[in-house]
Amino acid sequence: MASTGGNPVNNSTCPCGSQLTLNTCCGRYHAGTAAPTAEALMRSRYSAYTLGLVDYLVTTTLPAQQSGLDREAIQNWSLGSTWLGLEVEDTALIEGAPAHAWVTFTAQWQDISGKQSHRERSAFVEHQGRWYFIDPTVDLKPGRNDPCPCSSGQKFKKCCSAFF
Ligand SMILES: [Zn+2]
Ligand SMILES: [Zn+2]
Repeated sequence: MASTGGNPVNNSTCPCGSQLTLNTCCGRYHAGTAAPTAEALMRSRYSAYTLGLVDYLVTTTLPAQQSGLDREAIQNWSLGSTWLGLEVEDTALIEGAPAHAWVTFTAQWQDISGKQSHRERSAFVEHQGRWYFIDPTVDLKPGRNDPCPCSSGQKFKKCCSAFF
């Protein structure tokens, strides 16, 4: 089931482990439909890693962070790893304007240094009907009273500051 970096046919099981086909699961979001929840976005990002969809990984990151991403590193990690599976443990939605969410998951893959298992709690924010991943490795350093980089129109301290 796990892809080895090639593109599986689209009626294969979705790489995110949902038991659905790629076409009826993450493939819809890769094709442009907005992921309805932070978990759906997170799953589709994992699937994008297994499929080498670097553009998708960039455009689903907080817009203000996109220019700070290392596309080449993303591509090398994506294509240079054998993706072994995803397990989503928990989603916590924090309602508000905008809504934020935490998704706790474990991703497994194999790279040149061996089999890797990484458990992470990732933050997401909704903006204009789309969910975005807040990448903790891209430091934006806004002031507490500056407009939030998620474009919510709120001050950073009242919006995403707890998620960086
Ligand atoms: Zn999926
Ligand atoms: Zn924000």
